[in-house]
Amino acid sequence: MHVYSDRAFERHVNRLAGVEAPERFPAAVAGAEEAERAGAPVEWRSCQPAPEEILKAVHAPGYLDRVDRLSVEGGGYLDLDTGLNEHSWEAATLASGAAIGAVDSSLSGTAAFSIARPPGHHAGRNYGMGFCLLNHAAVAAEHARSRGIERIAILDWDVHHGNGTQDIFYADGEVLYLSAHQSPFYPGTGDVHEVGQKEGRGFTVNVPLRARSGEDIYAAAFAGVFVPVLREFRPELLIISAGYDAHTADLIGGMQLEATSFGRFAARLAAVAREIEAVPLALLLEGGYNLRALTESVAATIQGVEEEPSSEWEYLGDVRSVEASRKVLAPFWESLR
Ligand SMILES: [Zn+2]
Repeated sequence: MHVYSDRAFERHVNRLAGVEAPERFPAAVAGAEEAERAGAPVEWRSCQPAPEEILKAVHAPGYLDRVDRLSVEGGGYLDLDTGLNEHSWEAATLASGAAIGAVDSSLSGTAAFSIARPPGHHAGRNYGMGFCLLNHAAVAAEHARSRGIERIAILDWDVHHGNGTQDIFYADGEVLYLSAHQSPFYPGTGDVHEVGQKEGRGFTVNVPLRARSGEDIYAAAFAGVFVPVLREFRPELLIISAGYDAHTADLIGGMQLEATSFGRFAARLAAVAREIEAVPLALLLEGGYNLRALTESVAATIQGVEEEPSSEWEYLGDVRSVEASRKVLAPFWESLR
């Protein structure tokens, strides 16, 4: 496992959102160190800022200029909870670069984890919101495309719906976006009927879940929707938007996952990637606001990627929200019929 990190991720300060704190960075790094001590083969990697041409494949040039300028001028804000300081542009472009590094590791045969902040999945082509400035998962996908990869899946297990990632690829049939998220909840998107448009119809897969869902419900979403769709789509690369705010101890999320839950998700998805002959997983940190839970969950994820999954998940057809997604998506995916 290659782990990408940079001290710049601690210098970005969002004064409008105390929970998205600089301390999240060392807390997540401590998780990778914990996995390393437990025997996971962690190799530390440095980051380069994302090249301008890849950033421009995702974001409008005017938007990039605006974020850059705000940061150069010493800071500012993009929305009510998304603030910048003088280090934010450097941190955001390095975080996108870390995601590119993680994809390069995956394409060379080694799973990778980008430990970066600010997070990315709420940022769209011409907007930043929800603590996010640049969409690192989208940058990672565009980078993979520039390297000749044609089918990419982005699976988002952050407690929030990744509206920015969904928007960016909504009409795109080459990038499959899958999300399980708390609903109703911020940012209000991610309804089961949001399935994509034009060539992208069917390539947006949302499983909105009620508050207080635990690992059994998530396992049903994976087994009942995500895994069959991934087997049918057969992405060459699977990018994970790995947020940890669905942990039961999180300050923002209202879900009931444990650190070990994320380890099992990672083990299962790594096994699916092997089965469909995709490259190893590229994981990108998104949210996660309880520092101790963040450390434990990152550790469990990294260990999980290296482990064989303990047992096959079975979908029993008894979870209403999962059934709703299967029904809406069945016209697009034979495996859901
Ligand atoms: Zn989140």
